[in-house]
Amino acid sequence: MKIFVLNCGSSSLKYQLFDMQDESVIASGKVERIGMEDAILTHEPTDKEEVKLVTEILDHTTAIEKVFDFLVDPKHGVIKNVTEIEAVGHRVVHGGEVFSDSVKVDGQVKAAIKGTFDLAPLHNPANLVGIEAVETVLPNVPNVAVFDTAFHQTMPQNAFMYALPRILYKKHKIRRYGFHGTSHKYVCMKAAEFLNKPLEQLKIVSCHIGNGASVTAVNKGQSIDTSMGMTPLEGLMMGTRSGDIDPAIIPFVMDKEDLTLNEVNSMLNKHSGLLGVSGIGSDMRDIEENMETNENAKLAFDMYEYRIRKYIGAYAAAMDGIDVLIFTAGVGENSNLLRKAITDHLSYLGVEIDDEINNTRSKQIRRISTPESKVEVLVVPTNEELMIARDTLRIVKSSK
Ligand code: ADP
Repeated sequence: MKIFVLNCGSSSLKYQLFDMQDESVIASGKVERIGMEDAILTHEPTDKEEVKLVTEILDHTTAIEKVFDFLVDPKHGVIKNVTEIEAVGHRVVHGGEVFSDSVKVDGQVKAAIKGTFDLAPLHNPANLVGIEAVETVLPNVPNVAVFDTAFHQTMPQNAFMYALPRILYKKHKIRRYGFHGTSHKYVCMKAAEFLNKPLEQLKIVSCHIGNGASVTAVNKGQSIDTSMGMTPLEGLMMGTRSGDIDPAIIPFVMDKEDLTLNEVNSMLNKHSGLLGVSGIGSDMRDIEENMETNENAKLAFDMYEYRIRKYIGAYAAAMDGIDVLIFTAGVGENSNLLRKAITDHLSYLGVEIDDEINNTRSKQIRRISTPESKVEVLVVPTNEELMIARDTLRIVKSSK
């Protein structure tokens, strides 16, 4: 069975085509600058030559049509006919309180996704456009929506409510939702499989540390708390996002710097975090390279590491202990320095890592803790697209 996974943004989209027999990716690619005369389509068939096309692509439907043309192209294609695609899985950022699992798309689901536009105004409209474009191009194929927030719907009320007037929750659904759920779920399942233990017996702290970053407490397979909030701004310090700050700073800065709401929003989301503190950049590699000589880079690294460590401590408290600590995503999978800095201060939890294994590069799941460590510390490469493909398969099968 072939499943097409689509991650649709406002002016770009990324895709992967899976053969679910062995879960292999048979083609992947992206379309950038949708809406422009010089849009760029990059198609990468796994066993054939990559191809790049610069052409006018004015909307998402045309983008999808062109992608499907490449999928069946005699030279660059990987399937004979688009009818081989049996289902399409869509990444949808925000599922609000409506979706606690992935779901087959119908009119009601689309209306409910529209109902969450307020909560994710940059992402959800684009995600819905992607769904409707596929409906136009492949009218008889089931679409499945997989939400970044769904995994966190198991959080108890004392974790997801903000201490604000209750009316705001009732009127506007202001609460913690959490993100990166597809990734946290995937790496926790992988970890349990690797350790050969049932997920239901484990207390896991999962650290998804990429450009965006979040930590999740997963007790018995269920998310019970997570660091991102109503939006992805809360929690950890990130590449360009501030993470937690005193909310009173916002009116203070608006007043002192004469900033508008849009400007302060942009400051918190795009000019803060590693970039804002270091003045060098948002990429952890640049921070690490400059740490020895540049004190702002060193401060940025120390703050970044300290925040993650504080959340790990908080979630150990939330679960009354921790059995497994997971590092995943761009920084979590690659930065041995960050993993070392964090775990060096977790000896009170019984964490002990093997420096040699921690320093070894690998694309495989691996244990970096010593046999004596009371907590299993794992590096688990995430794969959100595969998780979306698996969920799509599960939902399509169960709806037959
Ligand atoms: P996202 O999906 O949120 O855009 P990723 O999970 O792909 O982000 O992570 C991207 C980040 O990973 C980069 O910004 C970079 O800081 C970090 N990264 C990648 N490779 C390394 C490395 N070798 N050492 C440290 N950080 C790295």
